[in-house]
Amino acid sequence: MASRSMWRGCALPYQAAGDIVLRKFYANLLKNASNMKRLLPERLGSDGLIGGLSGLSGCGRLAGDEKPERRCTMTIQDVDIAVIGAGPVGGTLALALAARGRRVLLVDRAELAPMEDPAFDGRGYAIAAGCQPVMALAGIWDGLPYAPCPILDIDVTDGQVGKRPSALKLHFDHRAVGGAFGWIIEARSIRVALNKRLNEADGIVLRAPATARVVRDADGADVHVGEEVFRAKLVVAADGRNSALRAEAGIRVTKLPYNQSAVVFALAHQMPHNGVALEHFLPGGPFAVLPMTGTAEHPNLSAVVFTERDALARRLYAMEDGAFMREVAVRLGGRLGAIEQVGRRWTHRLEAMYAHRYYDTRLLLVGDAAHGVHPIAGQGLNLGFQDAAALVALLEGAADVGAPEVLARYQAARRPVNMAMLLGMDSLDRLFSTNFGPVRLARDLGLAVVDRMPRLKRRFMLTAMGR
Ligand SMILES: Cc1cc2nc3c(=O)[nH]c(=O)nc-3n(C[C@H](O)[C@H](O)[C@H](O)COP(=O)(O)OP(=O)(O)OC[C@H]3O[C@@H](n4cnc5c(N)ncnc54)[C@H](O)[C@@H]3O)c2cc1C
Repeated sequence: MASRSMWRGCALPYQAAGDIVLRKFYANLLKNASNMKRLLPERLGSDGLIGGLSGLSGCGRLAGDEKPERRCTMTIQDVDIAVIGAGPVGGTLALALAARGRRVLLVDRAELAPMEDPAFDGRGYAIAAGCQPVMALAGIWDGLPYAPCPILDIDVTDGQVGKRPSALKLHFDHRAVGGAFGWIIEARSIRVALNKRLNEADGIVLRAPATARVVRDADGADVHVGEEVFRAKLVVAADGRNSALRAEAGIRVTKLPYNQSAVVFALAHQMPHNGVALEHFLPGGPFAVLPMTGTAEHPNLSAVVFTERDALARRLYAMEDGAFMREVAVRLGGRLGAIEQVGRRWTHRLEAMYAHRYYDTRLLLVGDAAHGVHPIAGQGLNLGFQDAAALVALLEGAADVGAPEVLARYQAARRPVNMAMLLGMDSLDRLFSTNFGPVRLARDLGLAVVDRMPRLKRRFMLTAMGR
């Protein structure tokens, strides 16, 4: 990795020089550092008068300044891209960029040490088939320690709690698209594979647990991590829904609250799921049962995302196991035979969210930092993976990875697609969360009509697969 020495954290040396003219010159220099950088060569003279303008603020040394009050050297390390946030999107993006030859700094506030065999925690992601290539490029796909479970068919049903689902339903069969729609992958499986690759991959500088202070200018950004400083051409905010980088850049967001929460857990059941995912729409919100790879102890296993209005979801989350399983059974019917909760429950308040723009000077947003969608069809992470794949493709061969036209192209490629998905998921939830008779009838008829339209169904299937 290229690196340059600089002086920093020292009392400004012009105090020692005591030269008022130089002092003014230096103040102006600091103020206009980014402009100056364009006009001046990177280093002025071999005496190290200015040790690299890129990290100038607060640093510097004058020729002949033998005794600065506090001398300290620091190295600026050059990277191409700094990714802040090593969640599934940021981690995958960093690895995929490194696989394409970029030098990447990756910073996360969480510990990312390799994990051997973390406990089963019952959470799974539905990952669309179209996202597999970027996971493979990042080196995560082959490193998944627990086998992904293919989603072969999807049943979409509509109903009311305690009643049989409407006979008018929608069924998606993988044979119509020539292969599995995607996979349910345990969240811990992705985390184990990511952490392993992040700690061993070439081209990745990993700093975790750590936070970054980012100072952007027209030519790049200084990323301060503890005592270290990195210089990057582009900073990618992958720091999730409450992105601090997005807020610092003044990028506004719009939030769409649902007054719904999801209770998430794993369910062991008597009958096999046969790779079928169930999306059962109920007035309180969708009840999704997603096929998981079984374990020796529980060969038939599914991940459940049980959405309900906030107050009821809070009660469900806190219920003792027996009462909770009765609530699950009343929604599931006898579909999978006897059931039993495995592991703990998790709860998430649901809210859609979108950023008004995806970029600022030398800054890009990806994943949940840019968009948050209702998990009704398990598309949130898929959109983030698609952001990552699009960015890797866009930066291929780019001389300046943070140039304004590159950032604008990324936004043009990703924002309309993500907005369409957000609005689609939002409409689905609102359409199915009403118990109003005529609307129920119309939507059930709609499901049945779509079920008889193979070309339209195929289009839906390909979209869900990220194709
Ligand atoms: C109930 C539920 C079910 C879901 N199911 C699915 C599904 O089946 N399929 C699917 O595709 N999606 C699903 N999603 C959506 C999915 O969980 C998210 O879209 C995905 O986690 C976003 O990943 P991310 O990497 O963008 O953000 P995050 O996972 O939020 O990661 C952000 C990272 O940034 C780090 N960070 C934050 N702030 C800082 C900071 N200041 N400095 C340094 N690091 C920082 C965090 O530690 C974290 O590692 C679901 C969501 C919910 C709520």
